[in-house]
Amino acid sequence: SDSLNGEVKPRILLMGMRRSGKSSIQKVVFHKMSPNETLFLESTNKICREDVSSSSFVSFQIWDFPGQIDFFDPTFDYEMIFRGTGALIFVIDSQDDYVEALSRLHLTVTRAYKVNPEINFEVFIHKVDGLSDDNKIEKQRDIQKRASDDLADAALEHIHLSFYLTSIYDHSIFEAFSKVVQKLIPQLPTLENLLNIFISNSGIEKAFLFDVVSKINIATDSSPVDMQTYELCCDMIDVVIDISCIYGLTDSEAGLPYDEESMAIIHLNNTTVMYLKEVTKFLAIVCFVRKESFERKAIQEVFDVRVEVQQNRELLSQRRWSKLTVTNGGPSNP
Ligand code: GDP
Repeated sequence: SDSLNGEVKPRILLMGMRRSGKSSIQKVVFHKMSPNETLFLESTNKICREDVSSSSFVSFQIWDFPGQIDFFDPTFDYEMIFRGTGALIFVIDSQDDYVEALSRLHLTVTRAYKVNPEINFEVFIHKVDGLSDDNKIEKQRDIQKRASDDLADAALEHIHLSFYLTSIYDHSIFEAFSKVVQKLIPQLPTLENLLNIFISNSGIEKAFLFDVVSKINIATDSSPVDMQTYELCCDMIDVVIDISCIYGLTDSEAGLPYDEESMAIIHLNNTTVMYLKEVTKFLAIVCFVRKESFERKAIQEVFDVRVEVQQNRELLSQRRWSKLTVTNGGPSNP
């Protein structure tokens, strides 16, 4: 759990042509900006914009491709950056002509692959909110084909690109980001297993692990997920953080009012109860429970942190005690 506490953060690079939507994605996903406000984001002339995301489980950086500046300038240490990068997200504006974007994508992918073949290449076909469903599929097919043809022409067809249709105006951007981040978490199978064990032993229907700041879904149990459930989780996180911001902050320097005491229970009108609880500095677990199960005592205890902590302490002291008795003469002499 140490690495989940932020020691080894997934590192992501966000790249693409200027005005493709990179800053908007960053602001909406990591800074709770509403999509309409991004219309007024100012264009920057910097090639590289750092974002350490110190309050999030994920750390990332943005790179622009402004027209004339030669991005592969020898003074720019891209090799070092590619070496430390887990995923490279390349944003393509689907509402604009994407010929140049595709040639930049090809250049970037081939350079990055040479430095670090372990990088996951993720292409966001972005701003699809303006397109009809048929048009979306058509655009994706076209972009995917051109990109793989370019790789095949360079005899690099073994480089794998993943494609996502995204927009900041719905949850697709959070969903795509979640998939990108999940691929970077080596403990994912373990986390999924733990969540499976957790739900099968507690009468909980579904459990999600979320990065609170970005609403990125880090892991979930292996039962199927629907978009609506996922959106409910995002809404609940927003509600909890908003209420905490208004009523929970005692020290104005403290940043996000989210700590080990953070928890919330919301009763939905369809006999489902939602439960949110802090797990680490960055992460929260969100569970769906049927009302009947929620009222049973066992579940109440799962959710009663004091009971849990107390039991853990007892367990720990028992372990210490038995270890001590063994070293002090064996179990025959307790
Ligand atoms: P950057 O230069 O790549 O950082 O691009 P910006 O984030 O500044 O975005 C450029 C413009 O695209 C802004 O006016 C945004 O409002 C708009 N934009 C960003 N994402 C979306 C999207 O998903 N849909 C639509 N329709 N517009 C978007």
